[in-house]
Amino acid sequence: FEYVRKVARDQKESDAASQAHLVAQHYNARPEVGVEKRQQSSIIRLRSFNNWIKSVLISRHVRRNATVLDMGCGKGGDLQKWARGGIGYLVGTDIAEVSLSQMKERYDTMRNARFKAEFIPLDCYSELLAPHLAPDMRFDLVSMQFCMHYSFESEKKARTMLENVTANLAEGGWFIGTIPDANWIIKKLRTMPKGQHEIGNHVYSIKFEDIKDTDDGNKVGFTPFGCKYWFHLTDAVDCPEYIVPFTIFQSLAEEYGLELKFKQNFHDFFVSAAHEADHNMLLKRMKVVGGYDPGLSEEEWEAARVYLAFAFQKTKPSRQA
Ligand code: SAM
Repeated sequence: FEYVRKVARDQKESDAASQAHLVAQHYNARPEVGVEKRQQSSIIRLRSFNNWIKSVLISRHVRRNATVLDMGCGKGGDLQKWARGGIGYLVGTDIAEVSLSQMKERYDTMRNARFKAEFIPLDCYSELLAPHLAPDMRFDLVSMQFCMHYSFESEKKARTMLENVTANLAEGGWFIGTIPDANWIIKKLRTMPKGQHEIGNHVYSIKFEDIKDTDDGNKVGFTPFGCKYWFHLTDAVDCPEYIVPFTIFQSLAEEYGLELKFKQNFHDFFVSAAHEADHNMLLKRMKVVGGYDPGLSEEEWEAARVYLAFAFQKTKPSRQA
């Protein structure tokens, strides 16, 4: 039995490794199209909207001269936000090496980057980051934008991710991010007819693989980890992703000394932040709106609702040490 269990475990681990590889391959293969081409994307308004949410979230938690870890940083979509926040040092890390080298190129050509930066290619959900950092490195802020949900493939990966978030995070430091809102997704899926395991519209779709229907029409098979679905976003993503049950995420995070301070879905986030003068001005500058209208089509507005933003603060020592 031990042998059978070991074979099953090895198989699971190698499946998990190939999933991470698939994600890296997907992001590596996405061409760097430049600003002009990006403006032509059919979801340009949704992209700007998401970008604005990240800008507000970051501006609320960053302080001048901060040392920042951008985990799952991709091609460096947030580099300008770090420059505007006046940070002192940035560590960017991502599993997709091609994306990371594009980020480094972007950084090297930025005229307003007054901060120093280093770039570390790493599978942050399977490997530890600390051995790659200077021993005295202390982060004031760890940011994971649109990437943390890949770690919920297994509990082991989610824990490795949290270990990487917290190992060098200063007491009082922040952990912020954006992830799909599992509650909303599952609730919406449950309104679908028997046999249908997909939600979405022309802009996005979320299709589950392992969900079944009971005779009385209930949808079952949701698991805390490894609850896989295929996410499709027009002009952007086509990737396997994993449900992040927020209560499980929060209780794991607490084990690592993190206290939840903020959580809001993108609709509510927009409604509250758009009325703050600075953020409203930024909305206009980023061409998201005219006034307090998010300027999205109805389908884009629904796609925006898929996500939520969160902020944890490191208030206690990790119970994992
Ligand atoms: N944070 C960036 C942004 O907001 O523009 C990129 C977001 S992109 C949707 C998701 C990123 O997560 C990709 O760059 C991908 O390579 C990264 N990622 C996925 N799995 C990862 C892993 N195991 N370790 C590190 N990065 C990972």
